[in-house]
Amino acid sequence: MKHAIHTDSCEYLNTGDVIAYADGDTLTTERTTRGLTVVERALLPMQSAMLGYLAATPAERRAMVADARRVQIDFRRTEGYAARSVPMFTKPEAQTKLGKSAAYTLGLTLLPWITEGIGNTCPAASLCRNVCLVDTGKGRLRSVQHARRTRLGFTVAHAHHAGVLLAHEMTLALAAHGGDIRVRLNVLSDVRWERVIPDAMIMFHVAGVRFYDYTKWAPRHRDTLGGIYSLTYSASERMTITDIQTMVANGYHVAVVLRASKAHVKTMAHWHGMPAVDGLSTDDRTTDPEGGCVVLLAALGDAIHDTSGFVFEID
Ligand code: SF4
Repeated sequence: MKHAIHTDSCEYLNTGDVIAYADGDTLTTERTTRGLTVVERALLPMQSAMLGYLAATPAERRAMVADARRVQIDFRRTEGYAARSVPMFTKPEAQTKLGKSAAYTLGLTLLPWITEGIGNTCPAASLCRNVCLVDTGKGRLRSVQHARRTRLGFTVAHAHHAGVLLAHEMTLALAAHGGDIRVRLNVLSDVRWERVIPDAMIMFHVAGVRFYDYTKWAPRHRDTLGGIYSLTYSASERMTITDIQTMVANGYHVAVVLRASKAHVKTMAHWHGMPAVDGLSTDDRTTDPEGGCVVLLAALGDAIHDTSGFVFEID
């Protein structure tokens, strides 16, 4: 089985689409069933792996991690990497945005499009796919794209072992940072983790992890697990200002990308009468105020010239 589609474009695909490969192969992606996307279903073994790690003795944990690292090394070798295990999480030292938060923040950086035979990690995306953040900054480098594809391939093909490594890295970070860290599981994806690892999220929340994410799913498709998972809903070109105002009035946090300079966005306390939070100075969305608000962001990269409606004007 090939692990992931190797493509240099950020082509967006829906489940059910037929993909044609240069070598003549085709693949029909699976449809969403039973309330889970295909990717979410593939990731389900993570839950028992994480809970098993938490319940294990130190010696058992060492054995679990060693086993998971062996599987990761084998997988990475098939993708051309040296025989070395690497962290699953991106650390704040390596990612400017995560590093802006006062609390120590780990991010899981997958990819927002399809993996062969598995599905789409960002199925609710709209026209933002044309100016996706995956292609900004270092994301344009082939080496970075390959590393992300490999991480995603390993995660979906070996969800149990990926879960062990993620649990281990969160546990180490908690110990090193006073039992208070942030975790963003969807840096470049939109998996509904509350459907995949709900019990593990609750257990790690109790241990001191505060989870947050941005999402393109509508609120009816998401669940904050009783408020422990901070979710900010990203406005799309399909939404009007009135739609956003309605969501904010209903208590949701809505991220809006503005065609404006970062400096200007940071000065804005309101947008179209709604209370506004600066989404640029910190990535930590767990400290945003209770009640509805807009989280303002400035268009970056190709999004600066977007005319699809995904980028909103200041006025
Ligand atoms: S929601 Fe984010 S990650 Fe997904 S396609 Fe849009 S910009 Fe990319």
